[in-house]
Amino acid sequence: ALRVKDEFLSIASHELRTPLTSLSLQLSLLRRDGSQSGLLQSDPRFEKRLGVIERQEQKLEELVATLLDVSRITSGKLEMECTNVDLTELVCDILERFESAFAQAGIELRSQLEPVTGQWDRLRLDQVLTNLLSNAIKYGRGKPVDVCIQRLSGGARILVRDQGIGISPEKQALVFERFGRAVSEREYGGLGLGLWITRTFVEAMGGSIELESEEGRGTAFIIDLPSGEDRNV
Ligand code: ADP
Repeated sequence: ALRVKDEFLSIASHELRTPLTSLSLQLSLLRRDGSQSGLLQSDPRFEKRLGVIERQEQKLEELVATLLDVSRITSGKLEMECTNVDLTELVCDILERFESAFAQAGIELRSQLEPVTGQWDRLRLDQVLTNLLSNAIKYGRGKPVDVCIQRLSGGARILVRDQGIGISPEKQALVFERFGRAVSEREYGGLGLGLWITRTFVEAMGGSIELESEEGRGTAFIIDLPSGEDRNV
């Protein structure tokens, strides 16, 4: 059943890519034309509707990107491109990108970032943090979220901690599995793929991911990454 699901996901994600690319291009042209003609400025309904479509298109892009990652992983085609990464700078950029999402959810975002560099895949690391932060918003019940970067001997530790719904002990291993979810579809929508992809990326860089959680009290995800200085890049 998993293989059939994988094949379907792979075909579906590739088929979705083409119309989505065209949609995205048309949307940016629409924004450009609307701005040049003055329509965007003169009619607030136009700006509002375009904004809604752009956000929904962005969500579709993210979903399709997730599906493409899944098919890359299950077909053994995942490749890491490790280069010199300033982790602190990268995390600062990501936190900045997340500022409005946290503000909208009324969540305080606190960070403690030690300077660390290493040989990592920048895009994959970005996805890892994006997944953890999106989950912290989704499952965080509006409580503050902490992000820490620590230097370890020979590597780095990334910590994302929320004070949200938590995960019961018997479900904690399950959430790192493919389609593994600790909540019902009715309560929270989702594919159950983000943490599996996250774990796969982290392990592909030689690292590990663990969680500490208490139901109703919150969850901390802890990622340890070797600096990869000895890796061939
Ligand atoms: P999704 O959120 O799409 O279900 P994920 O793979 O990101 O998929 O997460 C798997 C499951 O782990 C979720 O369904 C949820 O039950 C649990 N989970 C993930 N992050 C958190 C968190 N920060 N707090 C509580 N539960 C979480």
